[in-house]
Amino acid sequence: MFGSTYTNYVGVSIKHGTRVAIVVTRILNPQTNTAHKPRDDGSARATACGSLVSATHDRTRVVSDETVQTSAVIKRCGSCFDDVTGY
Ligand SMILES: [Zn+2]
Repeated sequence: MFGSTYTNYVGVSIKHGTRVAIVVTRILNPQTNTAHKPRDDGSARATACGSLVSATHDRTRVVSDETVQTSAVIKRCGSCFDDVTGY
């Protein structure tokens, strides 16, 4: 017999809501080497400026902001990034 000291772990609740260490992601259009900001609704395939919404999903890539910042070839979308001018 297992006796009455058996501990039932079913029912342990997992706390939600703590957001830490979120990796900043950008949506890259490989055809133009342009990085866009993702929308805030959690979709990884929709850009803040909407320019890639009609593009087929396999033509876009999700990259980290660090990749965009350090890349010599990736441009940042002027509509998504306020600090980009002349594009
Ligand atoms: Zn954009």
